[in-house]
Amino acid sequence: MVTGRFAPSPSGRMHIGNLFAYLLAWLSARKQGGRIVLRIEDLDAQRCNAEYAQQLQDDLLWLGLAWDEGPLAGGNHAPYEQSRRTAFYEAALDALRERGLVYPCFCTRAELHAASAPHRSDGQAVYPGTCRNLTAAQVAERLRTRPPAYRLRVPDEEISVQDGHMGLYRENLSRDCGDFLLRRSDGLYAYQLAVVVDDAAMGVTEVVRGSDLLSSTPRQLFLYRLLELPPPAFYHVPLLLSADGRRLSKRDRDLNLGVLRERYKPEEIIGKLAYLAGLNPTAAPVGAAGLLPAFDWGAVPVRDIVAPENLFS
Ligand code: GLU
Repeated sequence: MVTGRFAPSPSGRMHIGNLFAYLLAWLSARKQGGRIVLRIEDLDAQRCNAEYAQQLQDDLLWLGLAWDEGPLAGGNHAPYEQSRRTAFYEAALDALRERGLVYPCFCTRAELHAASAPHRSDGQAVYPGTCRNLTAAQVAERLRTRPPAYRLRVPDEEISVQDGHMGLYRENLSRDCGDFLLRRSDGLYAYQLAVVVDDAAMGVTEVVRGSDLLSSTPRQLFLYRLLELPPPAFYHVPLLLSADGRRLSKRDRDLNLGVLRERYKPEEIIGKLAYLAGLNPTAAPVGAAGLLPAFDWGAVPVRDIVAPENLFS
């Protein structure tokens, strides 16, 4: 059975941009008679909190976007909060480490952002491999002064993603990304590892999410391969932009669900988002279930979508 998912990070009130991707994830899974898992991606305790996690569940239910497995709904793959799943990430890291695929990295943030390092299009620095070939003696010496991060050795190989919505996307991990982090020096497991371990453990077969994560997908596919887990299908959806071309984000507070719930009914919000998605001829109100009969990925734009200024005013 098709299993889609919502994987929000509760680092603020749910935003219209997140909701846009969840609506499409929900419609795609439901259209195929599938189910939805809700997983709370709260690994970063500095940025996330339980109150936002509660609120976003309340917001999703208010909007009519119920899930079948996860917090409140229950299921066979609990816990559904990443902050309670670190044993799974540790096991995966250990398995990779035993195969010699992981090495400790002692680089400081300043070293990583050195001006000479090439940068990816998403602004992250390509890791130059500084700690890749340290000797055992060098590692032992550095361990005395600081705790290491852990990185995955990546091959000089092109990894292709056949995205269900965006088409073919390719990255050479060694050239375009470099050995990437699996665990930070403060012990925090990296998103890339956690998301793969959890989507696989929870039987997710279809990942629908914002196109800002398309460039993470080759790394994730590489991890699926190494961990011998079946990868899901990926559908990356366009981002919503403001009239001046800026990406709408959690900083646009007037477009978070706290504000929108005071001004609109659920069907009004869904109707506007469906209009932006090409699934509603006008911005007229419609419930999520009402969009199912005509749901079609072919109608959804591929390029980022400028939300007209008056749509939510
Ligand atoms: N937790 C991530 C976010 O909210 C999404 C991860 C994903 O969909 O793979 O940005």
